[in-house]
Amino acid sequence: MNIKPEEITSIIKGEIQKYEKQIKTVDSGTIIQIGDGVARVYGLDECMGGELLEFPNNVYGMALNLEQDNVGCVLLGSEEGIKEGDVVKRTGKIVEVPVGDDLIGRVVNSLGKPLDGKGPIKNDGFRPIEVSAPNIIARSSVNEPLQTGIKAIDSMIPIGRGQRELIIGDRQTGKTAIALDTIINQKGKDVVCIYVAIGQKQSTVAHIVNTLTEMGAMDYTIVVSSTASDSAPLQYIAPYAGCSMGEYFMNKGKHVLIIYDDLSKHAVAYRTMSLLLRRPPGREAYPGDVFYIHSRLLERAAKLSAKNGGGSLTALPIIETLAGDVTAYIPTNVISITDGQIFLESELFYAGQRPAVNPGISVSRVGGNAQIKAMKQVSGTLRLELAQYRELAAFAQFGSDLDKDTQRRLEKGKRLIEILKQDQYSPMDVEKQIMILYAAVNEFLSDIKVSEVRKFEKEFLEYMDTHNREVGKAIVEQKTLTDEIKTNLEQAIVEFKKVFLS
Ligand code: ATP
Ligand code: MG
Repeated sequence: MNIKPEEITSIIKGEIQKYEKQIKTVDSGTIIQIGDGVARVYGLDECMGGELLEFPNNVYGMALNLEQDNVGCVLLGSEEGIKEGDVVKRTGKIVEVPVGDDLIGRVVNSLGKPLDGKGPIKNDGFRPIEVSAPNIIARSSVNEPLQTGIKAIDSMIPIGRGQRELIIGDRQTGKTAIALDTIINQKGKDVVCIYVAIGQKQSTVAHIVNTLTEMGAMDYTIVVSSTASDSAPLQYIAPYAGCSMGEYFMNKGKHVLIIYDDLSKHAVAYRTMSLLLRRPPGREAYPGDVFYIHSRLLERAAKLSAKNGGGSLTALPIIETLAGDVTAYIPTNVISITDGQIFLESELFYAGQRPAVNPGISVSRVGGNAQIKAMKQVSGTLRLELAQYRELAAFAQFGSDLDKDTQRRLEKGKRLIEILKQDQYSPMDVEKQIMILYAAVNEFLSDIKVSEVRKFEKEFLEYMDTHNREVGKAIVEQKTLTDEIKTNLEQAIVEFKKVFLS
């Protein structure tokens, strides 16, 4: 930091003059240093942490470092044309974003300004980006499912409304795909979805918006976009802004799903900002409070009690790992904050197992309570059987003679793996998932060739849709597999198999 004698003397002179008159300037200050999107301002004596400050040229900033003789703040806009000595005004407000129903269907930046050229957004007031999470009394336990429409997840790693489930994996393993499929699957389920893009390429975000529009999912979705070309502070506040927009709906008793894609880049943006503010670096050069920025964000996901309207905010944060290393600083932090993780593996992805979920190390700590009973009935032993299959398959590679039981398990395992594969953009209703999993788990597929299993699945579900609607309907209504439903389902499977095999 350069010390300029003339500046110091002018400040001292000003101080001396004020001393006589006992006047304090508390609502405005002067810039003593500016650069890299960070400014130091002298004279904002009563500035609050996180307060919005007004710079010249209609640029706003956020006060972050309250020091003895100056305030360190980050600019939420371009610093062009702003120079040392310019006046900075306090606004008396914490940084806030517009909230309201009209945000739905729009693409906005971290400050809630529209980016989609569809005109201004009518808001229903503003909400600070940082609010404290609902307390224990206001919450209830997670008890309603949030269906992702992905068989591998809904069966083995179920997610409940109000839960925080981490999606973690290397680059290009289908992390965003899972998040988008989950949004697409909320169609007609009265869930408001918010997709927060942090530090992604503009083209990627445009592609995502296009996909959501094509699938008809923009009708209930807000996209909060802070791309790689935005400044670090804008990237940093994006998830908090998205969360505030979501809380507006949650407090009105609605259900909200929010995706943070991704928190690795969010941590990097925070690191950049902190280093520029000259906060001391810690492990991997992240500042000491990097854990806290994620914990206070994810704590805001909640299922409210009936007294508080019963709304919920489900958070699906995404973390990108390097070479599958989950023990790096940010991944371990976020794993410890969330209620479970969906672990995606590149090896599975390249082997054609897509979605590349590794059920062995993926968990959901609270979602099981929310899973419907019928799904529990079919998926109960699924995870175990897959684990056994993996072990046996590794063993069977040695090509020794296998006994009947082992062979049976191997054949069944191969078919289960096929059934858990699923194309992108084709989320599946829960009753359909249950019907096909029932067939696989109860070994109705043992005489279908492994390569034909996916074709069988597709045609079987079409058959059930056209010839046996009642079975699916009964599952949705009763939410459990009664003996009657089981008999009907088995009959249908046997009948269809006759057609399929001939
Ligand atoms: P990044 O690290 O770049 O953010 P990512 O982990 O978010 O990547 P995606 O962009 O979701 O991964 O997916 C990577 C590629 O894999 C995309 O081309 C996508 O179309 C494809 N893909 C993802 N899921 C599936 C699936 N279930 N079936 C087929 N292809 C898939
Ligand atoms: Mg992605």
